[in-house]
Amino acid sequence: MDITLMPYAFHNGNIVPHEEAKVSIATHALQYGTGAFAGIRGYLDHSGSGINIFRLPDHVRRLLQSGQMLRADLPWSPDEVQQILIDLVKKNAPDRNVYIRPLIYKAGIVLSPALTDIRDDLAIYMIPLDDYVDMSAPLKLMVSSWQRIEDNIIPSRGKFSGGYINSALAKDQATEAGCHDAIMLNRDGKVSEGSGANLFIVRNGTLITAPVTADILEGITRRSLVEFARDEGIPIEERAIDRSELYIADEVFLCGTGVQIAAAGTIDGRQIADGQRGPITEKLQEIYFNTVRGHDNAYSHYVTHVPIG
Ligand code: PMP
Repeated sequence: MDITLMPYAFHNGNIVPHEEAKVSIATHALQYGTGAFAGIRGYLDHSGSGINIFRLPDHVRRLLQSGQMLRADLPWSPDEVQQILIDLVKKNAPDRNVYIRPLIYKAGIVLSPALTDIRDDLAIYMIPLDDYVDMSAPLKLMVSSWQRIEDNIIPSRGKFSGGYINSALAKDQATEAGCHDAIMLNRDGKVSEGSGANLFIVRNGTLITAPVTADILEGITRRSLVEFARDEGIPIEERAIDRSELYIADEVFLCGTGVQIAAAGTIDGRQIADGQRGPITEKLQEIYFNTVRGHDNAYSHYVTHVPIG
């Protein structure tokens, strides 16, 4: 199903009506997948006074780092990219939750799949977006037979357009099998992450997630939950996770900007504990949603409030 874009987009250095933000069919990024993107949520503040963007500087930093790996040459500093995003949110003046999608891409019309001497650009669109997975009903997951891209093939910690073919193959396999999403293993056979989210398990009260060297995308939600858990006194380990640990874990959940924090109910047909969302998952969800909806807490500094109206 096609998504509905908000009226204004950013393209070629300007905020324009989204219908005018068009590229040639010969664009390098369209032909070769040479783009890097971010996925950022804006939550309507609980008071209705505007939009709260969670960890905007971190999203911009990762976007520009991905761009740097693509040797993108853009005229904007990180602060300027943040300001462009804020300006676009103001211009679209949403009165509900939104998703913001900036894309750095090789915009030139060049035949060779190289990285230099090709014009780069930044394009941004926005869409209205509420929860797209039910936060209270646990997910049916499967371990994909598609292996997560490894760093020496397509840098796993870059958020590259072309790399998402890997996610699409895994997600497609999961959908065909009647599952909500896929869990991907890396070349070492260890758990890497979901098709578009990081993964945590809980065993004997310890929260465990794969290390940043497990071919994961270095998720901003993941990093936030590690901090929340530490502050709550929940023991946390970043270490390799075996596939069979998924089956016997007390809790498993996916986390990311899109899925937010979503519990797994079954994996490969095995019920996870009692099949319901567990207490640590619920606690982290509570802290996350309180933060992004603008309730004052220890993490309020992670929220950029964009006043609307
Ligand atoms: N892994 C992949 C492959 C993703 O697409 C995402 C979503 N950006 C994540 C992990 C989670 O990252 P974040 O928490 O920064 O959204």
